[in-house]
Amino acid sequence: MTSDGQASPRIHMSSPDVGELEESFLVDAVRSGWIAPLGPHVDGFESELANRCGRGHAVALSSGTAALHLALLQLGARPGTSVIVPTMTFAATANAVVYTGASPVFVDCDPFSGNLDPELLGFAMSTLSAEGQTIAAVMTVDLLGKCADHDAIEALCDRHGVPVLEDAAESLGSVDRGRPAGSFGAAAALSFNGNKIMTTSGGGALLTDDADFAARARYLSTQARQPVEFYEHTEVGYNYRMSNLLAALGRAQLQRLDEMLARRREHRERYARTFERVEGVEVFQRDGDESDNCWLTSLLVDPKRAGWERQDLSKELAAGNIESRRLWKPMHLQPVFREARAFISGAAERLFATGLTLPSGSALDESDVERIDCIIGNFLDRVS
Ligand SMILES: *Cc1c(COP(=O)(O)O)cnc(C)c1O
Repeated sequence: MTSDGQASPRIHMSSPDVGELEESFLVDAVRSGWIAPLGPHVDGFESELANRCGRGHAVALSSGTAALHLALLQLGARPGTSVIVPTMTFAATANAVVYTGASPVFVDCDPFSGNLDPELLGFAMSTLSAEGQTIAAVMTVDLLGKCADHDAIEALCDRHGVPVLEDAAESLGSVDRGRPAGSFGAAAALSFNGNKIMTTSGGGALLTDDADFAARARYLSTQARQPVEFYEHTEVGYNYRMSNLLAALGRAQLQRLDEMLARRREHRERYARTFERVEGVEVFQRDGDESDNCWLTSLLVDPKRAGWERQDLSKELAAGNIESRRLWKPMHLQPVFREARAFISGAAERLFATGLTLPSGSALDESDVERIDCIIGNFLDRVS
């Protein structure tokens, strides 16, 4: 409650950051008459995205999940094949595999980055190959914006002759060893869902350097229509294309991407300062985060050393109408995937047990930041 008795507005972890520029792009799209489905903003958005991510081609789609689905289909995922999926991810990564009829095989993560553990991946690939299984693809996830160890993963996958699909839904704007997120593997997927680093209210894109791959994704995303004057179909297609209105929103967001990244980094730095001297607490993925997009900032709380648990802080924030969340619940622990094969070290389960994600969005204003700092400060005074 504020002093005038009003409940404080809810502070979310990552809400859309949309203002005048987005409004002007949307108005332009409406006035141009190009409402749906396609139009000049889609073409513009695609070339700007490809540029930003250092890729030859981008295909704007209705969601990141759609981008993953189309990429997997083209990489040959189908019934009877396996696709390796990091267990530490959002369900969309694994769901897209199931849509193709292939079987997801989960592999655990590195304990520090939370990203696919290359050593365990090597073991999983050797094991599956020795059993005569076909691995259609290895999916990497750049968890919370931190790029996976693509050098090690690509070397392994090259040796096994298996393509890599980068799920870059969380990592737009990150750079790893000079290479932008979205530029790794045979193809990559971006998401513009409302909580992501930038948004088109809902949307995604498929990135690739292969012109045929991009052309085929466009074709499958528009119901696989043959280029004739009547409706002729020789394959099953999908309705996965992004509309011109949403692409207009995306172009405005992309212009503001660096400013939004800088704002998220400020939150990361602030949390790092707040918890710098707090025993048993570390900022997740902080090591070497200079070129990460800082999509979400999470804490890892070791209850034995800290003397408190992540849920103690989470409850305190909730009482102040501030959202915080646990890290992704690993896929091998999800009831829906309980039959799936998994190569597990325990690292993802430990991150799930100790991790807490704090409000990190670029739309947080100074009064939001003050409210958060005040609650965390009071909490730390009390427990220390
Ligand atoms: C958000 C997200 C997706 C799905 O993107 P949508 O645009 O919501 O379909 C896929 N993978 C990861 C890792 C995500 O965080």
